Amino acid sequence: MQHGEPKSDNAPANLVTDDVVDVILQEAAVTLEKASERMLELHQKVALLTIENGQLTKALAEAQAVCVCGCEPTEHESYGEEGESCGVPGHDCFRTSKAVVMLMASLRGEL
Ligand SMILES: [Zn+2]
Ligand SMILES: [Zn+2]
Repeated sequence: MQHGEPKSDNAPANLVTDDVVDVILQEAAVTLEKASERMLELHQKVALLTIENGQLTKALAEAQAVCVCGCEPTEHESYGEEGESCGVPGHDCFRTSKAVVMLMASLRGEL
């Protein structure tokens, strides 16, 4: 009692002392902080993966979709729902997979 906390005198009366509550609260705060950090980390990972997924999906679509007319995709002008056109007379433009374009070419005797 000389220089200790006065509350230690009340300890026997209370099963849960303020010290114990402090420790529990501190542990909870640390756990909560770690969880928050982890959540932020995961949110950032999800954001990165979403961007990567978008890039890969776009790359995949570009790799798979080619125009049956044979012109490069960059030579085409998009008309939205009307489709697109390369501007070359006689070219019918619609995108499909490379396999279909190759099949059509072989049917035309180009391969
Ligand atoms: Zn064309
Ligand atoms: Zn075309």
